[in-house]
Amino acid sequence: MSTVSANAAEKRKRYWAPTILFASTGLLALTAVPLYGFEYGYSWQQWLAFLLVTGLCGISISAGNHRLWTHKTYKTHWLMRLLFALFSAATLQNTTLNWCAAHRAHHRYTDNNDLDPHSSARGLWFSHLDWMMREYPSGMKSHDNVRDLQRDKIVMWQHRNYLPIAIAMNLAICLVFGWITGDIIAMFLLAVVLRMVINHHAAFALNSFGHRWGHRKYKSDISARDNPLINIFAFGEGYHNYHHAFPGDFRNGVGWLAYDPSKWLIKVLSWFGITRQLRTATDMQVQKTVQEVKFEHTEQQLKELEAGDQENWRSLLDRERADFCKTMEEWRVLLAERRKIAQDGPAKKWKLAAIQTKIRDLKFRLKMQSRRLRLLVRQSRLNAATASSIGFGK
Ligand SMILES: [Zn+2]
Ligand SMILES: [Zn+2]
Repeated sequence: MSTVSANAAEKRKRYWAPTILFASTGLLALTAVPLYGFEYGYSWQQWLAFLLVTGLCGISISAGNHRLWTHKTYKTHWLMRLLFALFSAATLQNTTLNWCAAHRAHHRYTDNNDLDPHSSARGLWFSHLDWMMREYPSGMKSHDNVRDLQRDKIVMWQHRNYLPIAIAMNLAICLVFGWITGDIIAMFLLAVVLRMVINHHAAFALNSFGHRWGHRKYKSDISARDNPLINIFAFGEGYHNYHHAFPGDFRNGVGWLAYDPSKWLIKVLSWFGITRQLRTATDMQVQKTVQEVKFEHTEQQLKELEAGDQENWRSLLDRERADFCKTMEEWRVLLAERRKIAQDGPAKKWKLAAIQTKIRDLKFRLKMQSRRLRLLVRQSRLNAATASSIGFGK
C-alpha cells in the first residue's frame, strides 16, 4: 500500500451527513431529552427499553462488527449475524464493511498519522470525531483489507441497503417501544437519540481517550490503553491495550469476572452451539507478555539512574531475565507434555493434574519475580537518592 502524503491532509472537504448527525443528536440529548423528562417524566418501562436497545446496539458493534467480522475471533449462526447487521446499522456508525475496513487499518497502522484513520497522535478531537466529519487522506475508504467480508452475504446486503435499514430500524425501535410504553416521543428521545449518542461516544472514546489515558499492561509501545471508565459504556471494549496485544482473542477482559458483556454473551451462546470456534490467546502467551512489559518498565526506570549506579542493578536484572527465560522454557515443555498426555490412556487424569500443578508453580514464580522487579526499582531509587543527598551534604 502506498504511503499517503501528510501534506494532502490540508485538503479537508466536510462530510455534512455525519457532521449534522453528531451535532443534532448531541444537541437534542443535551436539551430535548432532559426538558421532556422534566415536563412529562420518563417511566421505568421507558428506561428499561432504553437500556435494552442501548445494549442490543452496543453489543452488535462490539460482538458483531468488531470481534466477529473485523477480527474473526469466533463463528456464529446466520441469524445472529443478521441481528448484528440490523442493530449495528441502527447505531449509524457506517456500514459493517466500512467499519471493519477502517478498524483493520487502525490495527495495522496504529499511531501512524498517515495511515491510521483515527491516529490518536493527531489529537483528541481528530481521533474522537473529526476523522469522520472531514475528508482526510488517512480516512479514504479502501476495501482491499476486507475482501473476505465481501463474500459474506449478510454484510454485503447491509452495505448495499444501509440507509433504508438504518432508518427502518430506528423507526421500528421508536414505534414498537412507543406502542408498548404508550409514548412515542419519549421513546424517540430515549431509545433513539440518547441511546445513539451514548453508543457513538462510547465507541469513539476508545479511539480518543482509550488511546490517551489508562494502563498499558500488555503492550507498551503503542498508545492503546485499558480504560475502566470507557469499558462500562463500551461493553468490554475498554480493555483496549489487551485487545491491541491480542486482537484475535474473543475476550477483551481476560478473566471470567472481568466486566466484558460481549465476551460473556459469546461464551454463553457457545454452550448452546450458537457461537463456535472461539479463539483465545493462551495463558502462557498472556503471562509472558505481561512479564515482558514489566521488564521493559524496570529497564526504563534503571536508565534514569547515574551510569555507575546502573551497572550494579543491571546485573541483577540480567539474572532475573535469565530466570524468566528458564521459566518460559519450562512452561513450553510442560505444554508439549500435556498435548502428548491428552492422547495417552492410563493415569491420564493424574498426569494432567501433575502438569497443572507444575504450571501453577511457574505462575507463582512469575508473581514473585514481579515483586522482586518492583523491589529492584524501589531499592535502586532509594540508593540513588541517598547517594545524592550525601553528595549534597558535602
Ligand atoms: Zn485502538
Ligand atoms: Zn480491534
